[in-house]
Amino acid sequence: MAKRKLTVQQQRRIRLQQDRSRAQADNRGAPAAAGLPESGLGAEQTGVVAVRYADSADVVIEAAGEVRRCHFRANLDSLIAGDRVAWRDGDPWGVITAVQPRKNHLDRPDNLGKLRPVAANIDRIAIVLAPQPQPHANLIDRYLVASEAQGIASMLVLNKCDMGETEDLRRLLDTYGQLGYPLLFVSAKTGAGIAQLAASLQHKTGVLVGQSGVGKSSLINALIPDADTQTGPLSTKATPVASRSSHREQGTARYTAKGTHTTSASQLFRLPGGGGLIDSPGIREFGLWHLDAAQVAAGFVEFRPLLGHCKFRDCQHRSEPECALIAAVKEGTVRAQRLGSYHALVAELSAH
Ligand code: GDP
Ligand code: ZN
Repeated sequence: MAKRKLTVQQQRRIRLQQDRSRAQADNRGAPAAAGLPESGLGAEQTGVVAVRYADSADVVIEAAGEVRRCHFRANLDSLIAGDRVAWRDGDPWGVITAVQPRKNHLDRPDNLGKLRPVAANIDRIAIVLAPQPQPHANLIDRYLVASEAQGIASMLVLNKCDMGETEDLRRLLDTYGQLGYPLLFVSAKTGAGIAQLAASLQHKTGVLVGQSGVGKSSLINALIPDADTQTGPLSTKATPVASRSSHREQGTARYTAKGTHTTSASQLFRLPGGGGLIDSPGIREFGLWHLDAAQVAAGFVEFRPLLGHCKFRDCQHRSEPECALIAAVKEGTVRAQRLGSYHALVAELSAH
């Protein structure tokens, strides 16, 4: 008899149980870490990391929609916003006991050029555009390829729709609509389309990306009216890496009370009806650093059926004879602009 296939939910339950027993085994063997309460802890619950500090983290209690400051053991040092954890409540702080494997993560290079994850378990990337500043197709493609490479669903959000649309913009948006990417027209200013955008992010973890000035901060404020107050309680033991507004000024603020770097200054903001948005300057710039040319090509959805059909295995799709992509451009099934974006992205990668 064929093995019964486990449902996603069953798999998740088993994984969580495995994580829990592993955490319990770790706890039995490990000496008490300094400052961590060993007794008087509540029952284990699940939660999501909202903000990571040097030696603690804010965890969202999903059922209650509240945030709790928690310590964590040294073996959980890689926690970032969006990580799903098991934790136990305590006084004054709780303790994170285990972290679930990440289904994906967005990376950016740190000061030393080493890639660091800045957000985990993203369900949807909203690429924000606006009539002004004028959108660049290459930048949109860059975000789409990065999303495809991580297997994360993406959508296009045209903000400032109160400004009207030019013919060029309409053509640009049509390109992506034809490729199958969902498109929403919104205005953070008038509130148009905000309910639809909120609905598309409901019970999901999303990020907003896009060039500076398109209205990402305005959209976060429109979607999450209390975003500015969703920061964890201050404490003498751990100073939050920075307030949200000073992130903006500093680019990447990540100094802590101890003067050590944390991996990111990302924060998960909770949407009123469940789900959330993770934001930080690092996420807004997330990119393609870890990809090779083949992965970039696979990130262009309409190239996929053509890949492997060029005459030369190492075809660069520039001027080689019998190139399936060049042929598709000539036939009109692939846009020249998209092939141009591909070349630009590959050139950028090899320059790194
Ligand atoms: P960010 O850099 O992507 O975070 O963009 P901001 O949220 O800071 O917005 C940039 C500018 O666009 C600000 O002056 C906003 O007031 C303006 N803006 C944001 N959303 C809208 C909108 O829907 N319509 C109009 N007309 N302006 C907007
Ligand atoms: Zn080719």
